[in-house]
Amino acid sequence: MELIHFYNIADGITAGTTGRGNPSTENPYSGFNVCHYVGDDADAVTECRQRLARTLRLPVEHILCPRQTHSSRPAVIDSVTDISMTEADAVVTRLSEVAIGVNTADCVPILLADTANHVIAAVHAGWRGLLAGVIENALAAMKAQGASLPCAKAVIAPSICRHCFEVGDDVARLFDDCGMAACIDRTQAKPHIDLPMAARMKLSEAGILPENISDSGICTRCQNRDFFSARALGVNSGRNFSFIIQHCSE
Ligand SMILES: [Zn+2]
Repeated sequence: MELIHFYNIADGITAGTTGRGNPSTENPYSGFNVCHYVGDDADAVTECRQRLARTLRLPVEHILCPRQTHSSRPAVIDSVTDISMTEADAVVTRLSEVAIGVNTADCVPILLADTANHVIAAVHAGWRGLLAGVIENALAAMKAQGASLPCAKAVIAPSICRHCFEVGDDVARLFDDCGMAACIDRTQAKPHIDLPMAARMKLSEAGILPENISDSGICTRCQNRDFFSARALGVNSGRNFSFIIQHCSE
């Protein structure tokens, strides 16, 4: 497949998710990985970042991704600065010509843009972060930066589908307790969670209009030749990078 799966969010926005490219071996890092803290060879990661920067026509230091920890913490970026050691699971900015993004392999990446008010965000929502409020916190940070949520568009990027996401009863119970029973599928031997649906619910409860939320419809585990999947390849594997850039208006 193409290196980048692009989304048509709005004029003046470039957004996409990098896939594995052409994995040459069975090595779970094989392919295209820009994530710097998952055990991949540092030179390979640097090379991939440089290739991505060339493709996006940005200086490599304008590609910003934090060190994700499954927390609910957003980082607000107001200058081009190295955030590779900043622990956060969402990035919010008003900056132009800067790619903010999150690295995932099955968890839900969400890209957001309010082009009228020039605020963009990238969110990493695994089940832990999602239940802990990472989506609500990222949207609150967007508002604090001047965004109007009813004007914002959201994309749910490639993530694990309901059929692939089997969980234990303990995790299913947590979703139940948080009022998200609709996202639990109990028709099989073990419960399954619909994470993209859970993300959609959280987004709309927090103020994003349902008609402004789109979904790539791609499952990382079903398509693990094209995208990294922790369930398919193990946690020690590469990550898909979902990013968003806003361009200077004039
Ligand atoms: Zn699947």
